[in-house]
Amino acid sequence: MKLKLFFLLIVFQVAFAQQRTCGTQEYMQTIMNDPAQRAAYLEQQSKFEVEMQKLESNSLRNTNELIRIPVAVHYPTAGAVTDAIKTCLRRLAQKQIDILNADYNATNTDISNWASVSDNYFGTSTGSLNVQFVIATQNHPAGTGLNNGDLAVTFGTDFIGSGVISCTNGCNEDITWAGYINIVVTNISGGILGFSPLGGQPQFGRTVVIDNNSFGATLTPSPTSCAGFVPAAPYNKGRTLTHELGHFFNLAHTFQACDGSNCASSGDRVCDTPPTDQPRYDCNAADNPPTPGGGNPPLSSCGFLQLTMNYMDYVQDSCMYMFSAGQAARMQSWYNSISGQLTTTALSSQDFLENKFTLYPNPNKGSFTIEFKELANSFSVEVYDVTGKTIYENNYDQTANLAQVINLDNPTNGVYFVNIKSDDGIVTKKLIIQ
Ligand SMILES: [Zn+2]
Repeated sequence: MKLKLFFLLIVFQVAFAQQRTCGTQEYMQTIMNDPAQRAAYLEQQSKFEVEMQKLESNSLRNTNELIRIPVAVHYPTAGAVTDAIKTCLRRLAQKQIDILNADYNATNTDISNWASVSDNYFGTSTGSLNVQFVIATQNHPAGTGLNNGDLAVTFGTDFIGSGVISCTNGCNEDITWAGYINIVVTNISGGILGFSPLGGQPQFGRTVVIDNNSFGATLTPSPTSCAGFVPAAPYNKGRTLTHELGHFFNLAHTFQACDGSNCASSGDRVCDTPPTDQPRYDCNAADNPPTPGGGNPPLSSCGFLQLTMNYMDYVQDSCMYMFSAGQAARMQSWYNSISGQLTTTALSSQDFLENKFTLYPNPNKGSFTIEFKELANSFSVEVYDVTGKTIYENNYDQTANLAQVINLDNPTNGVYFVNIKSDDGIVTKKLIIQ
C-alpha cells in the first residue's frame, strides 16, 4: 500500500515537472501584502508609466543606443566547492548570459521559425532590446572577497534561503548587491522553475531566482555540465531565465485575461500579444503552423490564435523563441525608469568597447567593414601583421557614418590585428585574410 502511494507520488511529480511553473504571481502577492514594499512597487510603476508615454510619443526612438546591464550570478547552495567546480559554474553562468543576449536581441537561431507562422499573427512582429547583459568585473561591492577583474559570481555565502518566496527578511534581496541584476541559482521548492519581481528594482538588490536544474544549457567543450546544476529537459535551453527576466523588465504573462476591449490597460497590457487567459504548455512546432480558424493549436480559450512561441507563455524551452515589438517597448520603458539604479562602473571599458562595434566579414579577402552601434566622436584604425608591421592606418574625425569600409592594398593571406582607438580606449581584434 505504502509502495503504491510512493509510486503514485513519483508519477504525479514527474507529470508535474513536465509543466512550467513560475512563482512570480505568488512572489508579487507577498510583496503587495507588505505596505512598504507595495508603496515602493507602486512608486516605480508610476515612473514607468511616464517613460512608457514618453516612448510612445517619441516616434524617433533611438534604437541604436546600446543598453549595458551589470549582472551578478550567485550560487548560494554551492558551499565548499573546489576551484574546478567554481570554474565550471562560472562557465555555466556565462553560457546562460550568452543565451540571454541572443534572446533579448532577437539573434537566437530559432527565431527563424517565426517566418513560417508570422502570417497567422496579424499585427504582431518580433521585438528586441539592443542590450548586452555582462557579468560585472570591476569595483565589486566591499566584503564580497572579489577583486577587480574577477567575475561577479559568488558561491555559498549570499542570498541564503532564496529558494523560498518570502518578504520576512527582505524580499529575496541583498542590499550588498544593489545596482546589479542579481541572478540566484538555487533549489527552489514546490516545483517552481523560477520567480522574479514584476518590475524589478536593482536599487534594492532584487533578484531573479532560477532553479538549479533549469539554469543554462549544455556546455562545450567537456565538462558539459556541473554537478548539482545540470539543466533538465525540457527546460534545458536557458529560457527559464529569459522568461523570468521578462518579469523583471515589467512584462506580465501573455495569459492574463480574455478582455481585449482595451489592450493597453487590460491583460498583459501589450497590444500585439493576442489575449488569452490560459497558459499553453504544448509546443506549437514551427513545422506544424496553425491554420487560422482551424483546430490545430494554438487557438486560445478566448478565441484568438495564442502566441505560444512567446517567452512569456509557459511552453517548453525549445518551443519559445520571441518577444513581440510591444513587449520590447515595454521593457525599454522599464529600463528607462530604472537605468539610474544600475552600477555601470561595475563594467569595464573594455567590455564597453568590445560591444560598441562589429567587424565583418572575418575572414575576408582584404576588404571589411567596421560598424559602430552609435556614432563615435573620432577614432582611428590601424592594421598590422604578426611581426608588428603596420599595413594600414587612418583617422576618422566627426564622421556621420556608423559603418566604415576598409580596403587593404593587396594583403598576403594570413593573420593580422586591427587596433581601434577611441576616447574610451583601445580594442584589438584578430583579422584573417584568406
Ligand atoms: Zn512567469
